[in-house]
Amino acid sequence: MTIDHRAIRWNGWGWTAHKDQLAENDLFWSWLATELGMPALLATPARPLESITIPTSRLPAEHRARFVALLGAERVRDDAYERAYHALGRSYHDLIRLRTGDLSTVPDAVLLPRTSDEVQATLAVCGECGIAAVPYGGGTSVVGALTADPGRFKSVVTISLSEMDRVIDIDAQSMTATFEAGILGPALEKALQAKGLTLGHHPQSFEFSTLGGWIAHRGAGQGSNRYGRAEDWLVGAKVITPRGVLQTGGFPASATGPRLNDLVLGSEGVLGIITEATVRLHALPAASDYRGYLFKDFASGVAAIRSAMINGIDVTMLRLSDSIETKFYRTFGALGKKRTVRDRISQLYLDSRGFDEKSCALIAGFEGESSAVKEARHRFDVLTKKLGALALGESQGKRWKEGRFHGPYLRDPMMDRGVGVDTLETAISWSKLDTLYITVRDAIEAAIRETAPRAGARGLVSCHISHSYTDGASLYFTYIFPRALDGELAQWRTIKRAASDAIVKNGGTISHHHGIGEDHLPWMAVEKGSLGIDILRAVKMALDPKGILNPGKLIPL
Ligand SMILES: Cc1cc2nc3c(=O)[nH]c(=O)nc-3n(C[C@H](O)[C@H](O)[C@H](O)COP(=O)(O)OP(=O)(O)OC[C@H]3O[C@@H](n4cnc5c(N)ncnc54)[C@H](O)[C@@H]3O)c2cc1C
Repeated sequence: MTIDHRAIRWNGWGWTAHKDQLAENDLFWSWLATELGMPALLATPARPLESITIPTSRLPAEHRARFVALLGAERVRDDAYERAYHALGRSYHDLIRLRTGDLSTVPDAVLLPRTSDEVQATLAVCGECGIAAVPYGGGTSVVGALTADPGRFKSVVTISLSEMDRVIDIDAQSMTATFEAGILGPALEKALQAKGLTLGHHPQSFEFSTLGGWIAHRGAGQGSNRYGRAEDWLVGAKVITPRGVLQTGGFPASATGPRLNDLVLGSEGVLGIITEATVRLHALPAASDYRGYLFKDFASGVAAIRSAMINGIDVTMLRLSDSIETKFYRTFGALGKKRTVRDRISQLYLDSRGFDEKSCALIAGFEGESSAVKEARHRFDVLTKKLGALALGESQGKRWKEGRFHGPYLRDPMMDRGVGVDTLETAISWSKLDTLYITVRDAIEAAIRETAPRAGARGLVSCHISHSYTDGASLYFTYIFPRALDGELAQWRTIKRAASDAIVKNGGTISHHHGIGEDHLPWMAVEKGSLGIDILRAVKMALDPKGILNPGKLIPL
C-alpha cells in the first residue's frame, strides 16, 4: 500500500489535506507573539515548488539506462516533485531549506526496487558507476540522515523502500512476524491487529515512518516502557550490503559472540539496506487506561517515574511535562474558551492545595490484561499520592491519546509566521538528570536570546520525560523562538551547538532516539571514543569499501 507522495507535504509535515486548526485562532497567535517578545508575527510562507529551480540531474544517460533496464522506467523517478520530496528529511533545518527553496541536495533520481535481489543489483550498479546511494524509508528523519549529498561521488540516487512493504509471515505461535522493511506503521499494525497481535511501536511519526527506518535509527515508540525500543523487539534482519547479503539474528537468544543485530540497529543506511526484518510481538492488550496526574514540581514528578521504574510497576508510558510545557498546553487548551464556574472552582482548589506555576502534568498509560492494568494503576496511584500529586482522571489521558500524532502539525503554521520550533533529546542517569535538565534548558534559552532578531525577543523552552528506565530517563526539549530571517541556518546551528555541548558536558547521550545523521556527527567521537569510531570505520570498510552508502552520516571520517 504505497502512499501517493503528492498527498503528503514535500516541504512540511503530514497530509496536505490536513486542516490547519490554528490558522483562524488569533488569540493563540497574539499570545505566542507576546510570549516570544515579538511585537507582531510575520508572514513567512514557504516557496511553492513551481517557483524553485531544481538542479539538473547529474546522472549520466548510460547510468540512468542501466537502472531503467533493471527496475523499469516507472521505478526510476526523476520528476521535480519526487526529487524535491526526497532531497532532505523533516528536521527544522531541513524544512528551512525546503521552504526557502534550497534544493541543492536533491537526488539525481529516486529508485524504487521491489525485491532484495533488485536492491542488490541496484547497489551493484551504484558501486560500478561510482554513484552514492541514500536508503530511504518514510523520510521522517530529524537529524539530517537523508540529505542526498553525493559526497565525493559525481551523482547520488535515493533508494526508496516504499515498494517493499509486504507482510512475509506472521508466526502467532512464536509471537514473531517478518515484514519487508518499507512497510509503514499503520499497515504493519493493521496486519498484526487483524490477528489479535501488536508490535506496539508508535513513534510520533508513526503514520509516515517505516519498519526499516525504526530499526536503522534505533527508535523508541511512545509506549516503549511496555513494548521496548527497536533493539528490544528486533529478532533478525536481512541486509543488502555492497559486499553481499548479511542475515543477522533470527533466534530467541544465542551465545554466538557479539550480536550482529547491533550493527543493523542505528546503522542509518551507511552499512547496508535492510530489506526484511523479523520482530517480537505482543498480544493486543485487553485493557488500556491512560490518565493524568498533577505534581507540585518537576522534581516530584521525576521521583514518581524513578520509583515506578525501580519498583517494577507495569506501565506502558509515563510522560512528565515540565512546568513550561504544562503551562503551554493549559493555555493552548483554554484559549478562546469561556471560563466556567467549574473552571474557577477547580482553580481555587488547585491554589488551596499549593499547585502553582511550578506544577507539572504527567500522563500515565497502562495496557495489558484487565487485572494487571488495575493493579499497576493502583500501585502508581499510591506512589503518586505519597509524593503529593493530584489524580486528574481519564479525560487528560484520553485527550493525549487522541492527539498523540497531531503535535507535529503545529510546526508549519508557526513557520509560516516567522516562528521557529525545533526539538532535541538525550538520556541520562537519574543522579545527573536534574543538573542536565537545568543546564540544557538554560543553554538553549541563552542561545535563543543571543541569536534573536531583535532586542527583547526570547524563546519558549520546555521539556518532557517520555521514556524511562531503572537507571535513568530521556529528556526531550522543545523550543519555540523568533526566527532570525537573515541567517536562519546559523541561528539554528548556534542553538544546536549550545544545547549539544551542554548535553555532552553533563553526561548525557547525544541522542536517545533520533539518531546521529549529519547533525550529531561532531559529538559522536566524544561519546564513542576514538577506538569506538575506529571500530565503526572498520565495519564500514568491510561492508561498503567504496563508501557509496549514505555519505557523510553517522561515522565521522
Ligand atoms: C514529527 C516527528 C516525530 C518523531 N517522533 C519520533 C518518536 O517518537 N520516536 C522515534 O524514535 N523517532 C521519532 N522521530 C524520528 C523519525 O521519525 C524516526 O527517525 C523514524 O523512525 C524514521 O523512520 P523512517 O522510515 O521515516 O526513516 P527515514 O527517515 O527514511 O530514514 C532514517 C534513517 O534510516 C535510514 N534507513 C531508512 N530505511 C532504511 C532501510 N530499510 N535500510 C537501511 N537504512 C534505512 C536512512 O538512510 C536514514 O539514515 C520523529 C520524527 C518526526 C519528524
